[in-house]
Amino acid sequence: MRKAAFFALGRRKGFAQLSMEGSMSSTSVIKQGVSTLAVHAGEARPKPYGAIASPIVQTSTYSFEDTATLVAHMQRKEQGLPPLRGEYGRYGSPNAAVVEAKLAALEGGEAACVFSSGMAATTVALLTLLSAGDHYIMTEDCYRRTRQFGLEIMPRLGIECTLVPINDMRSLAGAIRSNTRLVLTETPTNPYLRIVDLPRLAEVAREHGLISIVDATFGTPCNIRPLAFGIDMVVHSATKYLGGHNDLLSGVVVGSADLVQRVRELNNTLGAISDPNSLFLLQRGLKTLSLRMTRHNENGQRVAEFLEGHPAVRQVWYPGLPSHPDHEIAIRLMTGFGGVVSFELATDLAGTARFIDALRIPYIGPSLGGVESIIEQPALMSHFTLSEDERAAIGVRGELVRYALGIEDTADLLADLTQALEHVSGTPSSNLGGQR
Ligand code: PLP
Repeated sequence: MRKAAFFALGRRKGFAQLSMEGSMSSTSVIKQGVSTLAVHAGEARPKPYGAIASPIVQTSTYSFEDTATLVAHMQRKEQGLPPLRGEYGRYGSPNAAVVEAKLAALEGGEAACVFSSGMAATTVALLTLLSAGDHYIMTEDCYRRTRQFGLEIMPRLGIECTLVPINDMRSLAGAIRSNTRLVLTETPTNPYLRIVDLPRLAEVAREHGLISIVDATFGTPCNIRPLAFGIDMVVHSATKYLGGHNDLLSGVVVGSADLVQRVRELNNTLGAISDPNSLFLLQRGLKTLSLRMTRHNENGQRVAEFLEGHPAVRQVWYPGLPSHPDHEIAIRLMTGFGGVVSFELATDLAGTARFIDALRIPYIGPSLGGVESIIEQPALMSHFTLSEDERAAIGVRGELVRYALGIEDTADLLADLTQALEHVSGTPSSNLGGQR
């Protein structure tokens, strides 16, 4: 793994770099456990003023001490090498450099680049690697905005996208054309938590010379590390578990130094950068990632088991349950199954809304991965604009619930569910707009 890029902060004595430069060798970084990496990887020692937390470097532009320093910086850039110092905020920042080094270490990649959101990470990566006349393949269960980008926006640029069912390697191989350049997938998926057989997908991609990209937002490097299975690039919405506190939007791509540098260069022009304040929060959130994921995983497993045994619940989707269609793949590739549990109640849309309104702990809202539990009924949130028939066509029923468990006590979450499930067959609590 390459050393992390760093940015000199100035000429004052003792004003050290924010991110590490030679403070830990690459070998020592990769051998450390995920908790140690989450806390220490990418961090300079010592930091400016002897601080333990990294300062937020709130500047849009950086100055050069003399012309020779400027020319050395420009020559490095000309050679396509990552910057060793700041120049202008759109080209990187000390706060970005620390987070990028930490995420590269956590994923076991050579380099990382942070973005303003998960969608920025995905779209800039795709725009980097594809040109007019190219074709790429995406698995069907990808995040709906990622699908929209592939099916509606990329064709306007002369780039075609084909959807294939998840884990159907025959369809995947059959969709490959002479102009196919890459395959994009997601694991676990939303809302059914499908798990992609990454080693098999990587093998097919390699055989056909395709770049493979995995959005592992629902997984995190604590539960699954796609690069270790031969995948070329990992993408995350860092808005979710990586940030972990429902207080920032960010995204990241991780992969080889060469691929990441290409993506970074395009973003130098597109400008979908993460600001120093959000990056400070992301860095702080990452330090507790491993601890939080342990609790998210425990809550996910316990709640899934509880719901599966409850008479008011028709079906539960959670990769840690033997009943999940990809359980075998999950236990082979993952070390934990995350905090999202999807389930259908044995009632209708209105009965499900009564259950949700009766819960006391989760917030009703979109998103996932924060310390606070969040629940949603996809028919009334992400799929609100679809008719009942349109929803049925993609398998999203009115009684489907996605519960993104936070890090609250498991016993409290179970007690809350127990009392709310009693409301399923009660009277309507709200006007649902004619029960779409
Ligand atoms: N990827 C997945 C799997 C997501 O669930 C989301 C958002 O929900 C995104 C990407 C987009 O991330 P962001 O909202 O940070 O742009």
